[in-house]
Amino acid sequence: MIVLSGGTGTPKLLQGLRRHVADEEITVIVNTAEDSEVSGNLVSPDVDTILYLFSGQLDDAKWWGVKNDTFHTNQYLKKLGMNEKLLIGDADRATHIVRSDLMRKGACLTQATMQLSSMLGIEARILPMCDEKIDTVIDTPEGLMHFQDFWVGARGEPEVRSIKINGIEKARPTQEVLEALGSEDDVMIGPSNPITSIGPILALKGMLRILAKKKVIAISPIIGDSPVSGPAGKLMQASGFPVSSAGVALCYKDVLDIMVIDQNDTVDEKIFPVTAVRFDTMMTSLEKSEALAEHVLDLFRDI
Ligand code: GDP
Repeated sequence: MIVLSGGTGTPKLLQGLRRHVADEEITVIVNTAEDSEVSGNLVSPDVDTILYLFSGQLDDAKWWGVKNDTFHTNQYLKKLGMNEKLLIGDADRATHIVRSDLMRKGACLTQATMQLSSMLGIEARILPMCDEKIDTVIDTPEGLMHFQDFWVGARGEPEVRSIKINGIEKARPTQEVLEALGSEDDVMIGPSNPITSIGPILALKGMLRILAKKKVIAISPIIGDSPVSGPAGKLMQASGFPVSSAGVALCYKDVLDIMVIDQNDTVDEKIFPVTAVRFDTMMTSLEKSEALAEHVLDLFRDI
């Protein structure tokens, strides 16, 4: 099973999927468009979340960072005047230090991620979507902001005029991503942000053509006219998509076979460009994640 993932909604689904599918049979292609450097180290927030999820360390109250982490280094770096734009725990930062050290010695992001996976005893394949540096920049009335400055620094409050994914035109899926897609037919697009998490993965060179030949099922991160959490609504609107599960289906229309929408979503199924199926998609417990994952696995048998 291949799962395309960002860093909050899809990890919840992966937590349930692991109850049905062995880790070694799961490949996660992870967004890297929200990566940034903090105090000298490369933070790849979505990759980190997936690494912590599969190594049993994820703080799943927040859906980022390591459970019971401490923040001494963050506090001391701030005292020294460093721009700690993200709240990074000490154990979390250790991951960033190892990643950056491996990369300074010549590893690419994929190799560094594979080494971290092996150090953490992870059996799933966690693959960054590409090795090129990608930056998501939000155009606001207050000026251009890196995604993290917009979402964490400015709490997502500024008006969004447009979104630019810098570097994406030249980015390619890695060899590892291509090989994984070459040997697997079923692809889940988890409930992640369609603009800044899944959009960049689909925008990689050749990706739409490859995915169009696969069985693809997506789960909507939008219920009614708003996202379950995060800035997806604002970003979809600024990108010209309706803020609805049908708008999400529109974002994925070139590759999608089935769209899973929430049972409480009042949207009319007839307006979807593909089959829409209703289910409880609010993953407020492991049991609910497990039930949703099982339902999606069943749907693959019907395509
Ligand atoms: P990011 O990388 O932290 O932005 O996280 P993602 O892109 O993976 O996920 C963010 C999206 O997940 C948001 O648009 C939320 O609406 C969605 N989301 C979070 N929890 C749930 C849930 O339980 N159910 C559904 N359907 N969507 C969710």
